[in-house]
Amino acid sequence: MKCSRLRAWVERCLSPGYAYCGRCKRPWSFVDGHATPYAEGRGCFPLCESCWEQLAPVTRLPFYRILWDSWAKHGTEVPWAVVDAACLYERKPIEIDTLEEGMAIIKALPGLWDCVVGEVDHYQLRPTLPSQVREAWANPQQ
Ligand SMILES: [Zn+2]
Repeated sequence: MKCSRLRAWVERCLSPGYAYCGRCKRPWSFVDGHATPYAEGRGCFPLCESCWEQLAPVTRLPFYRILWDSWAKHGTEVPWAVVDAACLYERKPIEIDTLEEGMAIIKALPGLWDCVVGEVDHYQLRPTLPSQVREAWANPQQ
C-alpha cells in the first residue's frame, strides 16, 4: 500500500495539470479513467478503470460525491441526483466478438443497448443511460 502511494505520488509529480483517480490517486497520464455517462455524450471520471472494477456501486458513490462537490464549488447545472443515479445504475458495457452476435443482442433487448463501437470483428455494446438518470434530470432534488 505504501509502495503504491509512493508510485502514485511520483506519477502525479511527473504529470502536472493532470487529474487523477479519487481512490488510488494515479493520474490520467498513467491510468485510464473510467467514464460514467450521465447525459448524452457526457461522462465523469472520479475513478480509474481498475478502482471502478474493484468497487461495488454503493462504495463508488463517495468518490462521485467528492467530484460533484468540486463541480458545485465552481457552479454546475448538473444536479447531484443525476450523478448519484448514473453511478448507482451504471452497467458494464459488454464485449461482443462478431457483428452478428451484437446485432442479435440489440434486437433481443431493444432500448437497452444503444451504441456499438469497435472493429468489424470486435464490438462493444454500451448500455443506454438508465431511466433513473433521465428521471433525475427531469426532477432534480439535491
Ligand atoms: Zn484508481
